[in-house]
Amino acid sequence: NDTLVLDGLTKAYNRGKPAEVTVLRGASLAVARGEVVALVAPSGAGKSTLLHIAGLLDTPDAGRVLLAGRDMARSGDGARTRARREEVGFIYQFHHLLPEFTALENIMLPQLANGTSAPAAQARAMDLLARVGVSTRAHHRPAALSGGEQQRVAFCRALANAPRLLLADEPTGNLDPGTSDQVFAALMDLVRETGLSALIATHNLDLAARMDRIVRLDQGRVV
Ligand code: ADP
Ligand code: ADP
Repeated sequence: NDTLVLDGLTKAYNRGKPAEVTVLRGASLAVARGEVVALVAPSGAGKSTLLHIAGLLDTPDAGRVLLAGRDMARSGDGARTRARREEVGFIYQFHHLLPEFTALENIMLPQLANGTSAPAAQARAMDLLARVGVSTRAHHRPAALSGGEQQRVAFCRALANAPRLLLADEPTGNLDPGTSDQVFAALMDLVRETGLSALIATHNLDLAARMDRIVRLDQGRVV
């Protein structure tokens, strides 16, 4: 019943070269259905590496990545791409919204790419925007939005295709503390309402304390 299982992941960069750096040394973690887990570690500890492997953006040197019970670490590119699109939503510290499209369009695009009809994609996008309190910004481009609004739109985009798993890398890391709190609360409401599983990397222990469980990345292992 686990949405995500990471089992014995190892990962080194620049393997066999002088600049070799071993980041993961047997990292294991299970995220249950509906569970929200905080991943806390100092900068450079390997949080992004772990999230990228969990989200099938990178491959481990060894170990398994089970999404909804299926081992994806060594599946073919087609299966990995499909699983990434359909089952995983990503949020980063910076919103990475497409600047030439409106907030609404940014949330519609991943749905259209997955074959959702335009009216259905628009309805879902408007619903998500309403839930995070930025409906009035639907027709603005990202540059016209405040930092907090941009990040709320990025949450909506991450959830556009109704993933089972949300992976977030310092999702409120570039916001001032007050805005960060509000935006984080909006994210948690959305996650709880949708019953999604989430793995959220953060430096912020106050935010981590609001999640179901806190794990640390220490010496390449999850503790
Ligand atoms: P965190 O997200 O916790 O800051 P990262 O996963 O980004 O940590 O990085 C972990 C370590 O791996 C760091 O020492 C970083 O410099 C190194 N690293 C990350 N990506 C690469 C890469 N593509 N090539 C070489 N080293 C990398
Ligand atoms: P913050 O205090 O978070 O930095 P801003 O001062 O950037 O916020 O924006 C305040 C409000 O004005 C926000 O709701 C934002 O969406 C809106 N806003 C800012 N610039 C524009 C613009 N060019 N067009 C439309 N709305 C804007």
